[in-house]
Amino acid sequence: MKTINDFSFKEKKVLIRVDFNVPIQKGRVTDSTRIKSAIPTILKILQDGGACILMSHLGRPKGFEKRFSLIQIKSELDNILGIKTKFCEDCVGSVAEEASKKLSVGEVLILENLRFYKEEASGDELFSKKLSQLADCYINDAFGTAHRPHASTTVVAKYFENKFFGKLLEKEVLAIKKVISNGKSPVLAVLGGSKISSKIPIVENIIDKVDDIIIGGGMAFTFIKALGGKIGLSIHEDSMLKKSLSILKLAGEKNTRIHLPVDVVCAKEFKEGAASKVFSINLIPDEYEGLDSGPKSIKKFKEIILSSSTILWNGPVGVFEIQSFSKGTKEIGMAIAESTKKGAFSLVGGGDSVAAVKKFKLENDVSYVSTGGGAMLESLEGKILPGISALGK
Ligand code: AMP
Repeated sequence: MKTINDFSFKEKKVLIRVDFNVPIQKGRVTDSTRIKSAIPTILKILQDGGACILMSHLGRPKGFEKRFSLIQIKSELDNILGIKTKFCEDCVGSVAEEASKKLSVGEVLILENLRFYKEEASGDELFSKKLSQLADCYINDAFGTAHRPHASTTVVAKYFENKFFGKLLEKEVLAIKKVISNGKSPVLAVLGGSKISSKIPIVENIIDKVDDIIIGGGMAFTFIKALGGKIGLSIHEDSMLKKSLSILKLAGEKNTRIHLPVDVVCAKEFKEGAASKVFSINLIPDEYEGLDSGPKSIKKFKEIILSSSTILWNGPVGVFEIQSFSKGTKEIGMAIAESTKKGAFSLVGGGDSVAAVKKFKLENDVSYVSTGGGAMLESLEGKILPGISALGK
């Protein structure tokens, strides 16, 4: 991994792929987490005496659409950095080249939304080459898009001799490694969420790399049904029944312990305030649906979490968006926080578990919260992300 730490960017113009795909309402940034995540890399370049050219996408525009302009993030970035950045209303061509030429040491230039050009997502060679002509060095610091073979995330890298992992990308990659490759034993994965089919590739990749796997949330019911349990109306995927049995068999062969829930909070209706009842996980009446981990399951999961040294969490263990069914996910999050306090390393990654950690205000109580949904999932599946492999070529 070629990081920016041992290189001096003095008098260099540095093209940095950042992830400024932030939520915007009425022209204002409503969550600046992603902007803040890019700051350490930007500061390193400025402190070395270089200049930054920042490029990103924002939303999914169809051509030049003003409502997706990156000008909307400028004042937020100015506030966070404490300097006045420059903005260029194009990301390639003569206007961008002129803006890059005029850029001095210590300055930051934001290029307009890359996805105003369809060539960005198609990974167009000429577009990538044009981007590369704006700078001397390239840094990828956008973990959230590192799984996409786009022009700015992947193709552009080949035009640079000096190309680096930004500080955020470095942190993300190290956090995954710390769990999957060199995690301190016992290593635990807590997996939940609704769609078992989307999580199977993760289970298959990590099964011989972890000691324990907790399978909670909606994805547990396919396993329970495959084992002959009655799951009522609970979410499940019949096409995955055989697969789940083969996963259990494989876990036995690999000496990996798989822990399924033993009880479940059920309701007849999937809505806030619906009357709920706890049933054994394999004895759910026909008219009920399992929506949250039951008290015995929570107790069992907590004990495993508290005796683990490395913890990966991906996917809620209940319908945490609905208050009545959020207890399991909250308690699991709190147990992971407690285990972290006792010295465990914990990584929360991939979509909804990150949302849950934020909802329960636990983001500062776990070791690392990933910024990349799809990129994190693909990494956990064992895939080499194109944006990462491009930096090594
Ligand atoms: P995923 O994107 O597969 O990680 O799924 C996340 C979603 O799973 C969240 O929106 C949760 O509400 C949902 N979920 C968790 N447990 C259950 C369950 N028992 N039944 C239905 N949905 C669930």
